[in-house]
Amino acid sequence: MKNSKILPLLMVSLSIISMSAKASPDLDCAQGLAAYKKGDYKFSAQLFQKALKAGKQNPVVLLYLGHSYLGSGDKTLALRTYHDLVDQFPSSREAGVALQCIRKLDPNYKNKIVLPSARLAPETSDFGSKLVIIPPRLGHPAVSQTTIETVRRAIRSVPPHIIRILEKGQATITLSPNSIDRWAEGADTPAGDGETRTCGEVPGHTYHCEGRGPDINIFERCKPRGTNKLNEPYEQSEIFRISLHEIGHGVDDLLQLSTDPKFIAAHRRDVSNLSVEDKERWSYYTTPIEACAEIIGGLAGPKEVNPYTADMIKCFPQTTRWLKERLRL
Ligand SMILES: [Zn+2]
Repeated sequence: MKNSKILPLLMVSLSIISMSAKASPDLDCAQGLAAYKKGDYKFSAQLFQKALKAGKQNPVVLLYLGHSYLGSGDKTLALRTYHDLVDQFPSSREAGVALQCIRKLDPNYKNKIVLPSARLAPETSDFGSKLVIIPPRLGHPAVSQTTIETVRRAIRSVPPHIIRILEKGQATITLSPNSIDRWAEGADTPAGDGETRTCGEVPGHTYHCEGRGPDINIFERCKPRGTNKLNEPYEQSEIFRISLHEIGHGVDDLLQLSTDPKFIAAHRRDVSNLSVEDKERWSYYTTPIEACAEIIGGLAGPKEVNPYTADMIKCFPQTTRWLKERLRL
């Protein structure tokens, strides 16, 4: 493949790079850009690399470094740089461009798992700002700004001591159009034990990850099995509730609450006290791990608990009391 075919589509705004800057990394960027425009890709790569080393870590610089490598014929380094960009700034516009380049350079890429690394933007300790947004694939619509705000609002409603548990435990939280936009495979497989829905059909999913924190996922749209098309987004109130529910799973994954014998005993008592109708209505929460997530979501979220969760919590009083004490909620 000829590199020149790729380069024209990569022109993105360079407004982040200040042309008049006197500071050295900014000057390197400006000179790097000038060299890049002249087609001196080897020299521009050197300058962008220098700027990165001097702390100019931003998606535009990484993108142009990748392009410079590509222009100078080093496909391996170009790919590595594009992957770094997607990993470090997954929600940036430049990451979307980098993904296009990766797919052109590596036709097998679509068959691989797309998993952003756990590295998160270090500039703030606000967990909501670390929300990773996965760009759409397969012609899907990108996650809407409204949904991004809803998930951030849900995160902001959680008390700081619970957020600290997640942060200390290296939890990550990711928002994707659907599971299939993040992982090319497995969307039509069952979402879990005893789960009738597929991974593409659930609005959230939290994965336990060995050696690092739980991988909390929110999905904006359902992908019915057997098609790649996505439905309309879930209601914002549902996305809000699911965000809290999945945060509940994240906390449970770190603190191992739903496997605690005292939790299990309280939950078993609540289940045995349910009326026949309630047992039917709340059958999903007769599984300890699901009851745990939903109750934590209800307790950790805003004072005004959504009516569905409030009703559920009323039916699990002993489990709720145990979690309330255990988590100081
Ligand atoms: Zn769940």
